[in-house]
Amino acid sequence: MKSSFLKNLSILILGVCLVLVKTDTSEAIYGENYSQIIWGYLEKLCALGPRNPGSKGYLKTIELIRRVGEKYADRVVEKPFLVQVSEKEKVRMVNLELQFKGTEGGAPIIIGSHFDTRPFADQEIELEKKNRPILGANDGGSGTAVLLGLAHFLSEHPVPRPIHLVFFDGEDYGTSGSGLNLLGSTHYAQSLLKADRRSWPYWVLILDMIGDKDLQIFKETYSLKGSGRFLDQIYSIAEKQKVSSFKPQSKFTILDDHYPFYKMGIPATLLIDFDYPYWHTQEDTLDKCSSESMFSVFSVVTETISSFKSVLVSGRK
Ligand SMILES: [Zn+2]
Repeated sequence: MKSSFLKNLSILILGVCLVLVKTDTSEAIYGENYSQIIWGYLEKLCALGPRNPGSKGYLKTIELIRRVGEKYADRVVEKPFLVQVSEKEKVRMVNLELQFKGTEGGAPIIIGSHFDTRPFADQEIELEKKNRPILGANDGGSGTAVLLGLAHFLSEHPVPRPIHLVFFDGEDYGTSGSGLNLLGSTHYAQSLLKADRRSWPYWVLILDMIGDKDLQIFKETYSLKGSGRFLDQIYSIAEKQKVSSFKPQSKFTILDDHYPFYKMGIPATLLIDFDYPYWHTQEDTLDKCSSESMFSVFSVVTETISSFKSVLVSGRK
């Protein structure tokens, strides 16, 4: 009787120790896990090949985002739309949105990235290379991979505000000046114009080209103009985390998926490293990307979105 009591007690104590050890271990590998998950997604996306609208890789990417959404998000919303790309041709596109409720409610934070890749390589000189779609490991791939990693994170660590991860289509579809870029984000922003203002996002954060091995994220001009206090928060968290790739200077003015929201007066921030020599070439491949770079952005973003409480901070729900 006594020995069995002691045995039970020791099993109980051992159990408690195991729980403690398990907690400690998972804390210790917390970063490592997400870093691997994100890199795994980037590998998967690149293995699908170019992901320009209508291609096989594009359709498989939609399936992947859908599958991740069904597993981790509270709700998956698909917003299809048609784009007139020439006099005779219309192309079907879709924005996919993985919604997470958050613990406090209020206006959502949109975290967006384009999942399409460029159908041609306008920065190439040789015609043969120019006319082929690009792989877009960094341009299209890195932001999508981080968003998919965020889906894992948010299902395990809900943050106060609702988070809507939006995978935008058609960011990189047309030649410059053709009016056929930012198609998904423009469609999304226009549908907000028809909706009640109370449903508008609290903040839009766009991630694009954040996988560069030599990551340098300068403050983008529209982001500074339209979302100064959000940028301040991001950069102070980056400084606290000792992430040196966030550079406090301003360098580029870029038309990216934040722009349609900026024009509407919604605070919108773009995090991008535009110093990327492989931009819009056939060389934008997995070996030019780094899991450390993507994880550093993920880590700053997760702490930033966790820091925005629902109502009291802004006075606006
Ligand atoms: Zn691009």
